[in-house]
Amino acid sequence: MPDCRVMDTLPDGAEDPGTLGGLLAVFAHPDDESYLAGGTLARYAASGVRVALLCATLGEAGDIADPVLAARETLPSVREAELGAAAACLGLTETHLLDYHDGSLASVDFPEGVERVSEIMAAQRPRVVLTFGPEGVYGHPDHVAIHRWAKEAFHRYRATEPALAPRLYYVAPPRSWYRAVSERTRLRGVPDRYGPRVEVLGVPDELVTTRVAVGEYVTARLAAIRAHRSQLFADHPFATLPDVDLQELLAVEYYTRGWPVAAPREPVEADLFAAWPVGARTEAEWRDA
Ligand SMILES: [Zn+2]
Repeated sequence: MPDCRVMDTLPDGAEDPGTLGGLLAVFAHPDDESYLAGGTLARYAASGVRVALLCATLGEAGDIADPVLAARETLPSVREAELGAAAACLGLTETHLLDYHDGSLASVDFPEGVERVSEIMAAQRPRVVLTFGPEGVYGHPDHVAIHRWAKEAFHRYRATEPALAPRLYYVAPPRSWYRAVSERTRLRGVPDRYGPRVEVLGVPDELVTTRVAVGEYVTARLAAIRAHRSQLFADHPFATLPDVDLQELLAVEYYTRGWPVAAPREPVEADLFAAWPVGARTEAEWRDA
């Protein structure tokens, strides 16, 4: 089993937000946090919430955007440094690295993966856990594995912390968002990376239960995305679209509430830390969700 390491990413001189109630984001690769939830993480960190990140791999199997930045053998350390820089941009309190090999998570024993996440969850005692949904945004096997580990770990944790009433959220960029980015890239005459896959990326719009306004934190999110330099390809919309477009396209981040499962016709919520929703489903129903 790989070691778990903690990167202390609290900015120098910052006060530890401590007991205000925490958020734990559980992702697979460096950059997942910035691309999928960067504005949300920055928003809650700025409001005094203790925001921690668990990242299961160093993304070392991925392609390298520019050979000047890294070689295959230096990629793990480059990506770790980039993650540290991104975490500082977002104001994260700490980052836990599980040091699994990139691309290996689906072959890790499920109980082991759950246990690794559970240990960190129990230590952090978050009120909100954020992770991938069952589709993994675009089906990456590491994303799907992390979803399964985090979901199981969350429900075990929840049973031990009834007074805290923790909540589980899945990142859920909707199809309409990918279509909007695709349309904007065509309008601007830059490469349309999403267009050919727009019907399989993200989630159907009706699965979105929660829209978090993050307009004030787009700058922090873009800085974090750009800190992952070895992953930001020159033809990516976040590299080609002007900031004025990105400010508009990234002003909202989207989630599906995994627990408590949304009741039928429940209004869309705007805050991951809102009051426990009326009509949320019962214990017996979560395993089917
Ligand atoms: Zn990923």
